[in-house]
Amino acid sequence: MQDAQDAKPLIDLGGSVAFRSVCFSYPNGERVLQDFSLHIPSGQKVGLVGRSGAGKSTILSLLQRLYDPETGQVLIDEQDIAKMTQHSLRHAIAVVQQDISLFHRSVRENLRYSRPEASDEDVLRAAEAARCTEFIARLPQGFDTIIGERGLKLSGGERQRLAIARAFLRNAPIILLDEATSALDSESEQSIQEALMRLVKGRTVIAIAHRLSTLDSFDRILVLERGRIVEDGSSADLLRRKGVYSRMYMRQLAAPRRT
Ligand code: ADP
Repeated sequence: MQDAQDAKPLIDLGGSVAFRSVCFSYPNGERVLQDFSLHIPSGQKVGLVGRSGAGKSTILSLLQRLYDPETGQVLIDEQDIAKMTQHSLRHAIAVVQQDISLFHRSVRENLRYSRPEASDEDVLRAAEAARCTEFIARLPQGFDTIIGERGLKLSGGERQRLAIARAFLRNAPIILLDEATSALDSESEQSIQEALMRLVKGRTVIAIAHRLSTLDSFDRILVLERGRIVEDGSSADLLRRKGVYSRMYMRQLAAPRRT
């Protein structure tokens, strides 16, 4: 994506998100979103749920401007992301994926990747906030240990905590969480949950979650079907409504580890 000629930096007003009548299809694909609208106030924590192919990842991709909508707008703090500089858009959003890409570089450089101008002190603070310092201290050269493809291998939980540390460093008002389906062991899961809870505090969050119980503390759940929002409310509201969400939830309670 190129900056528009008159692209402006984002004026950060806390990180509200809006989709306004967005239509979108992938090149050579069918319509994924048709006249899609959504408003997320700043600081709200929203979980996106729905079957595979419902459009959850597409919504996160459009918000990062990996694609432009055919018609309609995607806005952050009421400003059209197509008209803002890529630089400021990148700084407004931090993505935490379960499987982050690590470079063949030191732990420190891998963390600093999300904010190249960060000081060593900033990096240390982010690592502490994400509960990384303990395992980093156990690495042969601590923060200077080379990790990545041909470097020292880290566990899934350690990699995920590094992803959270990167997001802390970026200090973005909007956090996108993409929870993979693979189950982690319960010990690392606990510390990851703690680190995530700290990270999301005071920020806008949009999460794709497969284990619905992780969304219990969220403000709002959106259930998507074929690119449309079919249910919208708190987890408690939707459970009371006994619709799609409640059926999905009950199925997972019955078979918690299969999801
Ligand atoms: P979800 O995240 O809910 O599983 P997606 O947003 O990935 O759903 O997919 C929505 C629709 O778009 C699906 O029909 C999927 O096949 C299609 N799709 C997703 N990514 C691409 C792509 N890169 N190219 C073409 N079609 C895609």
